[in-house]
Formats: sequence, structure tokens, C-alpha cells
Amino acid sequence: MKVRLYEIFTSIEGEGLLYGTKTLFVRLAGCPFKCFYCDTKDAIPMNSGQQYELDEAKKMIERSLEKNTYKVNFTGGDPLAQSEAVSELARFVQLKKIPSYLESSCYDSTRFAQVLPYLDFIKIEFKTPDSEFVDSKHYSKLLENELDCLRLSVESKKVTYIKVVVSSKTELGPFKKLLKRIFQSTSKSSLAGFIIQPTYGIAEPSLEQLLSFYDEVHAYYEEVRIVPQIHKFIGAP
Ligand code: SF4
Repeated sequence: MKVRLYEIFTSIEGEGLLYGTKTLFVRLAGCPFKCFYCDTKDAIPMNSGQQYELDEAKKMIERSLEKNTYKVNFTGGDPLAQSEAVSELARFVQLKKIPSYLESSCYDSTRFAQVLPYLDFIKIEFKTPDSEFVDSKHYSKLLENELDCLRLSVESKKVTYIKVVVSSKTELGPFKKLLKRIFQSTSKSSLAGFIIQPTYGIAEPSLEQLLSFYDEVHAYYEEVRIVPQIHKFIGAP
């Protein structure tokens, strides 16, 4: 089996629940989508990066692990685009007893289920309709997949949190509808957190907008945080 990798590097987790932790990032090449705010556009093409035999990729991960590396983050692109290879790499990391983490848009629950057993931390990202991730005809299918991924992760007792990226284009109405679906399908006690992430450098939301989104989530779930991508402030990749 082969895998297409964009890059492997150690840095600081700059977003989400685990921000500030030293992490080895394994960035998979390829994402079938195009969010307007994507900050890893170079890794979107399915032929970006370089192709490796799986054993070669495992050796690269092994060589890149540093002392006190807290966890390995499989990111992208979207790692689910190469779910079979990612499940093998995550299994390899699990055998080394290093926690691993998946950063994905959760667009396909079947692919997600393939990788899930080998992971410890799961971010379920819910895209808002303004993200341009998919067109309006395909948004409900995307949402069903994201909700299925959330259910699977919680049932597997993984550390599961939710992230929603918001921009100045994000409207309160669709955001409220999204929250209703999320909290209808999961109990708040099963969540480790809810992160609202403002876009950075493009269509940035105002403080007023952010506070409105915060209040809407807080009505369902008090452990909500607005967390920008902190690695961008220190110039880390
Ligand atoms: S899903 Fe992620 S990698 Fe793909 S376009 Fe959107 S932000 Fe970029």
C-alpha cells in the first residue's frame, strides 16, 4: 500500500482543545473539498506532496518522533481521503503507545470508522453552509456524515470535541440550526469541549458576531471557548 504525504514536522498544536501541546504533525496530501478559508491550500491537490510505500512512511514517522512528543496529529488536506493508509499509520503509532489525534472534516463516516479504533483524540468539525465546503444541495448529506462521526466517536469513548470555524459570512440562523442538530443527537456530558474558531486573515468575524455565536452555544453547553489559531501568532507551521 502507498500513501501520499505532504509533510511531517514537529510544532505546537495551534488550535482546538489541545492547543499549546508539542505535537508531531503528519500532513496527508489531498482534500476533495475547497473551503474558502482553507489555510493549507497547497496540500489540497490529490497529487500534491510525495508518494511513499507505507513502510517507508512508518520509518519517516519513527525518525521524526522526538523525546516527549505528546502526540501525533494526522492532518491534511483531509486524512480521510486516504483512510486505509491512515488507519495503518495510526495503528503503527498506537503500538508505540503514543496518543494520536485526527483532524478531519468528517465528510465520510464509513472512512472515519476505519481509522477510529487507532485514535485517541477526535475533533469533529462541523462546516457551516458559508464555508463553501460543499454546495447547498450536498450540505445535508455532509451534516449527516458529521453527525454519524460524532456518534461513532462518542460510542467508542474517544476524547471527542466539536469545532466550528466561523467567519464574517457565517449567519446566525444556519448556525443555530446546526447547534440544534448537534445537541439533539449527542448529550453534552459526552463532549470534551466545543471550540468556535474564527477565520484568520480572511473574512474575519467581528467580536460582536463571535459573542453571538458563543451565547448560542453556551445555551446548550457551557464549556464553549472561542480559540483562534495561536500558531499563526508565533509564525509556527
Ligand atoms: S476540509 Fe480542510 S483541507 Fe479541505 S479545503 Fe477545507 S479547510 Fe482545507
